[in-house]
Amino acid sequence: MSAYRSWAYRPAQRQAAVRPTWREASLPSSQPILPFGNGRSYGDSCLNSAGVLIDSRSLDHVIEFNRETGRIRCESGLLLDALHRITLPAGWFVPVTPGTSYVTLGGALANDVHGKNHHRDGCFGNHVCAFELCRSDGSRIVCSPSSNELLFSATIGGLGLTGFVSWVEIQLLSVESSTMDVNTSVFYGLEEFMALSAQSHDSHQYSVAWLDCVSSGKNFGRGIFIQANHSSQHVPVAERPASSGLPVPVDFPGWALNSVTVKAFNELYFHKHRLMSLGDSIQDFRSYFYPLDSLQHWNRIYGSGGFYQYQFVVPTVNTEALTEILNRIVDSGQGSFLAVLKQFGAVRSPGLMSFPMEGPCLALDFPNKGRKTLQLMDELDAIVTAAHGCVYPAKDNRMSAAAFKQYFPQVDEFVHHIDPAFSSDFWRRVSD
Ligand SMILES: Cc1cc2nc3c(=O)[nH]c(=O)nc-3n(C[C@H](O)[C@H](O)[C@H](O)COP(=O)(O)OP(=O)(O)OC[C@H]3O[C@@H](n4cnc5c(N)ncnc54)[C@H](O)[C@@H]3O)c2cc1C
Repeated sequence: MSAYRSWAYRPAQRQAAVRPTWREASLPSSQPILPFGNGRSYGDSCLNSAGVLIDSRSLDHVIEFNRETGRIRCESGLLLDALHRITLPAGWFVPVTPGTSYVTLGGALANDVHGKNHHRDGCFGNHVCAFELCRSDGSRIVCSPSSNELLFSATIGGLGLTGFVSWVEIQLLSVESSTMDVNTSVFYGLEEFMALSAQSHDSHQYSVAWLDCVSSGKNFGRGIFIQANHSSQHVPVAERPASSGLPVPVDFPGWALNSVTVKAFNELYFHKHRLMSLGDSIQDFRSYFYPLDSLQHWNRIYGSGGFYQYQFVVPTVNTEALTEILNRIVDSGQGSFLAVLKQFGAVRSPGLMSFPMEGPCLALDFPNKGRKTLQLMDELDAIVTAAHGCVYPAKDNRMSAAAFKQYFPQVDEFVHHIDPAFSSDFWRRVSD
């Protein structure tokens, strides 16, 4: 038994796990089974307290890399961080990346992760050429957009429930350097955010905003808008080596984060950007894409009680729901400093259970204050549901079975592709 936990730091569990070191290894005989990537999911979709995890992290080899075309086939436990060390010197970058480089390819596929370029390039699944799926009946099925299409579609965003992905083949993005041309501006209110996103759509491959979820009155809905393109300039910028940041050594005490400290942080962060970093700059790709990776185990700042992350999207036609939710969060005084706002685009993913839809998407942390935090998220669920939006399972620890079915009506089709030997804590909760 080993300790496994998800990123939101709760619940910590001792779990039965196997760690295969070669792709052809057979699946464990005890059940239920669940693949485990690097535990960067915030909730319980990567945990399986009633069964056994297949920890993929020793399957971390590149199988084939065509430096001319940028097509790469890797074992599923390879981290994006390790991938970039191999591909960037040859001028290739992962086509879609989440806000941390410490995710595995298998985890990126199973949650069909999105990045700051969703408005242009869709999800990770849009760039998957093929993968091998190992099922509990011993079969190994190669899936692609043109072979075993239904399993291909069900496995992308399929939360690890359709089988174990042993390798993944993706098409990388050609880049001229490892630096980014970044432009930063300030906005006041959600309408200004929407206008900036619309303007940025054609001019910038990447865009994202930090939103102040604490301030009210004239500062309601203010934020920092950051748009970027891969740079063609080989300018030496202070490169931050991966994992260079100081680790947070211990759990912070629960009182360290309260509405006063969070408000103070938000003021400081907003004004630092307003005064010091507006306009154009050149940044190393790690500082741009993975700012949080520089503080190892930053999740410990929430203390041993952990936190919840809540991430939702609402369709563009119902964006007033975003204002309603932001009002509710500000009123509650429970908002944290990590609120990320992004306008998703219209590119559809091949993933049957994929989370994104065209519209604004907000992700923020709530320090765990027990029942009052759960109650707030239930209220937010009601607004998201009424707006025909969706909550992201990769970040979830508490959504009800009823809410899940409303967010993912396609689940009736999905269940036919689940491997009967596979399950997770998340799945047992939402399929009740
Ligand atoms: C700081 C931070 C920023 C983030 N930013 C974003 C973001 O911008 N966009 C976004 O979409 N997500 C984001 N995330 C969430 C994260 O990208 C996803 O949860 C990702 O799927 C985690 O990958 P992992 O390798 O850690 O997998 P895990 O969390 O261990 O597992 C995730 C899922 O994948 C399944 N799985 C893992 N390996 C395999 C396999 N080999 N075969 C089949 N199934 C498998 C698991 O069963 C589980 O259901 C962020 C997380 C953090 C901590």
